Amino acid sequence: MILGDVIERNARCFGHHPALLFEGRRIDHRTFHERVVRLINALADLGCVKQDRIAVLSRNCPEYLEAYGAAALGGFVGLGLNYRLSETEQAAVLADAQPAVFIFEAEYAGRARALRDRLPPGTHCICFEGPMDGALGYETLLAAASPVQPALRAVEDDTFLLIYTSGTTGVPKGVMLGNEGQLEQARTQAQSHAAVQTDRMLVVMPFYHIGGPTELLTYLVAGATIVLHRTFDAQEILHSIQAQRVTAAHLAPTMISMMLEVQEKTPFDLSSLHTVCYASAPMSVALSLRARAVFGPVFMQIYGMTEAGLGTTLLKHQHVLDGSETDRKRLASAGQAYLGTALRILDDAGRECAPGEVGEVCLRSKSVMQGYWQKPEATAAAMHSGYLHTGDMGYLDEDAFLFIVDRKKDMIISGGENIYSREVEEALLMHAAVAEVAVIGAPDAQWGESVAAIVVLKPGAAVTAEALVTHCRSLIAGYKKPKIVKFVDAMPRVPSTNKIDKRALRAPFWAGRERQ
Ligand code: AMP
Repeated sequence: MILGDVIERNARCFGHHPALLFEGRRIDHRTFHERVVRLINALADLGCVKQDRIAVLSRNCPEYLEAYGAAALGGFVGLGLNYRLSETEQAAVLADAQPAVFIFEAEYAGRARALRDRLPPGTHCICFEGPMDGALGYETLLAAASPVQPALRAVEDDTFLLIYTSGTTGVPKGVMLGNEGQLEQARTQAQSHAAVQTDRMLVVMPFYHIGGPTELLTYLVAGATIVLHRTFDAQEILHSIQAQRVTAAHLAPTMISMMLEVQEKTPFDLSSLHTVCYASAPMSVALSLRARAVFGPVFMQIYGMTEAGLGTTLLKHQHVLDGSETDRKRLASAGQAYLGTALRILDDAGRECAPGEVGEVCLRSKSVMQGYWQKPEATAAAMHSGYLHTGDMGYLDEDAFLFIVDRKKDMIISGGENIYSREVEEALLMHAAVAEVAVIGAPDAQWGESVAAIVVLKPGAAVTAEALVTHCRSLIAGYKKPKIVKFVDAMPRVPSTNKIDKRALRAPFWAGRERQ
C-alpha cells in the first residue's frame, strides 16, 4: 500500500467529512482527493515525471498539503523549503535537490524571484495565488487538468518527502523518506494514539519540518479532520481549540509553555481536547506538571528525528503520572518504542548496553530514511550494522523506557566524567527564577571541560550566579554543577528547528580551539 491509497480511501468512505479546516474554509475528503488528482495531472501535463522534486516555499496552507498529496499518490517527491532560511541557504537546498517544480505563495514572491534566477532553465514555477512574474497560476493549472484518474501513481519504494536537516552542525542534507515506510508508521501511530475519524487534529508545526507531516499523516490515516494553522499565536491556537472543538493537537514544548501563560490568565474552554502530542525536545518535569494542572492528563511525548521518519518512541503522560515513584521518574523519559521499531542502546564497540547504561540510541524501522539524497558516505556513516545511529545518548530502564541524556556531541567530559547537559538543565529549571537554560562544555585547563550554564531569567526575576550554583549543588553531584553561569536576554536558535543553537553558545568559549 502507498500513502496515496489513504487519500483515495478517505474520499470513498468519508467523502463529505471535512479533511481540512483552514481560515474559514472547509475542504472535504472528496474535494481534497479531486484536487490532488488534478494537481498530479497538471504536473504530468507540464512534462513532470515520477520522483521529480516539487519544492514548496510557503507557510502551511491547504494547497501545500495538496502538493504533498500529489507526492503521496502521484509519486513525486515533496520538498518543503524552510521559509526561515536565508536566500543563500535556500538556494543551496534547491541547487542540491534540483526540483522540476518550484511552487511559492505570494508572501514570498520577492524571495521566489531571487531564487528562480538561480534555478536551472526549464524549472516550472507556480504561484498559489495566481500567475505572477512569469510564474503559472496554481488554480488555472488545476482547472485545466483532468480530475478523473491520476496519470502517474506512486509505488511503495518511491521517495515521498525530501526533508533537509543539518541538526546544529554541518551542511544541510536531504533526508529521503519512503512512501510505504511513512504509511506503516502513520498507521502504527494512529493505533497507538487511538486516532479516530471523528478526531479534529490541530496542526501548526511547519510542513517543511518532520514535525508537520508526523501527526498530520497519523490523523489522515484515521480519516480525521485537520484543523490547519499558518502560524503559531498562543491566543489564536487556544481560541481555535475552543471554537473548532479540537480533540488533538501537535505542539512544541515552547508553544505549550506560551499557551500556559495565556490560559492561566484567560481560560478558554479546552474540554474537547484529549490529546496533545509534543516532540522534538523534552518538556522539563516542572513544565510537564504545570501543564498537566492546566490542560489535564492529555500529553503524549514523541521522540524522533528526521532521519527516523515519523515517531520512534511514545510516552503517554497519563500512564506514568498517577502511579509509583518509578512512574513519576518516567515522566522525564521519552517513553517506549512504537510497535515496528527496534530500539537498541549501543556502546562505541557496537555492543548492546545493559539497562541503565548510557550509549548511543540506535534503531531499525520501516520508516527510517532511505538515505541522504546523493550523499552515500553520509548515509553509510549514519546507517550501518543494520541500525540508524541517531547521535543521541541515552539509556533504557528495565521496562525499556528510553531516557535521552544528551546529543553525543553535546556531552561534556570533565575530568573523565561524562556530564549530560539535560540533567544539569533540569536542575536549573527547578529554580523559580529561571525561564530557559542551556548547558554546554567550556574549555578548562585542569579538567579538560567544565560545565557552563547559559541562563534566561523570567521577566522581573533576579538571582545571582552563586545562588544558582548552590541550588544545583542541592540537586546534583558536585562535579556536575556549573562553573560558569552566563545570563542572556534570549537564546540563539537554529532556524530550521527553532531549537537552542548550542554551537553558537559554545563558539565564544572555544574561539580558536577544537570543540564546537
Ligand atoms: P530533528 O531531526 O530536527 O527532528 O531533530 C531530532 C533530534 O531532536 C533528536 O535526535 C533528538 O536529539 C531531539 N529530540 C527529538 N525529540 C525529542 C524528545 N522527545 N526528547 C528529547 N530529545 C528529542
